[in-house]
Amino acid sequence: MTSPRPLPADDFGIYYVLAECTDHYDTCPANEAHENRPHFQGVTGLRNLGNTCYMNAILQSLGSISPLAEYFLSGKYITALQKDCSEVATAFAYVMTDMWLGDSECVSPEIFRSALGSLYPAFMKKTQQDAQEFLIYVLNELHEALKKYHRRRSYGKESVPRCCRKVIANETSIITQLFEGQLNYSIMCLKCESCTYKNEVFTVLSLPIPSEYECYLQDCLQCFFQQDTLTWNNQIHCSFCETKQETAVRASISKAPKIIIFHLKRFDILGTMKRKLRTDIHYPLTNLDLTPFICPVFRKHPKYNLCAVVNHFGDLDGGHYTAFCKNSVTQAWYSFDDTRVREIPDTSVQTATAYLLFYSCQPFSIPIKKCKS
Ligand SMILES: [Zn+2]
Repeated sequence: MTSPRPLPADDFGIYYVLAECTDHYDTCPANEAHENRPHFQGVTGLRNLGNTCYMNAILQSLGSISPLAEYFLSGKYITALQKDCSEVATAFAYVMTDMWLGDSECVSPEIFRSALGSLYPAFMKKTQQDAQEFLIYVLNELHEALKKYHRRRSYGKESVPRCCRKVIANETSIITQLFEGQLNYSIMCLKCESCTYKNEVFTVLSLPIPSEYECYLQDCLQCFFQQDTLTWNNQIHCSFCETKQETAVRASISKAPKIIIFHLKRFDILGTMKRKLRTDIHYPLTNLDLTPFICPVFRKHPKYNLCAVVNHFGDLDGGHYTAFCKNSVTQAWYSFDDTRVREIPDTSVQTATAYLLFYSCQPFSIPIKKCKS
């Protein structure tokens, strides 16, 4: 083993030194790592397999979502597995188990990467990928592997206004149960004022950033949910006027997911120019109020608490991803930078590098009772 490098200066907390990691970032003294450092469940570093920080940041964020981790750790997923596409879900279960129940302070997500890479070869390349796109692929694959078909009768709830009726989901999975929400678009013809409605499910909400320098998450939400007027080439055909007309479109949430994921659209395209917005977006750690954006009849879980953040440093082509996750066992926040894991105070969770935010409307319990300590 090479001689230990001096640890990076740290503003807060302790740098947890991780052993056995052959990642290009760290060569850590093994003995130091095992002293003074209790290994908490779910506080496990992930090896970088060559520019796979985007994958690690997403796996850490998903791993910190207790009901999801619980589903895989408890083996519940096995009964739901669809035969032809079980590889990604099984590999995901392995990495969750390693992160939550393993003895190592860092593990390799290699099996998971191979499983996903066999379907999407881009993830086998040693090039940087977009963490948000990767997240969507992972959620889709898990859903496909674990979905169940349901036959349901018609609505039966005549009291629910037409604009707010839910699409009847005929495929559900742990992914839809936790992450799937629904948007309702009201589309009004500005000539005859007739209104039509359209529903659309979502798992990630991509929010515009209304300022270059500083704003609040609520400003991004306001921007997303504000009424949009479609004119000129964007006019929509009105079935009453029987011609294209200027149209006002407004979205609201008709089903709020248990866990809502926001993608902050930092990568902006201006004509042919691409740029990254470095706006300092202030987001609350607790009590995010989505009430103003939810259809009144479905305001069940208005308050959300932050459970994970994916950060992006650097530029469009290069850059590095890390994650901040709240651990349900210790109730503390940790920074996960591949194999480097350290506890951070709540006050450090808000940064200008945030790219994805995970909020939950319910507190998480410890995913598995079997405590190792
Ligand atoms: Zn019309």
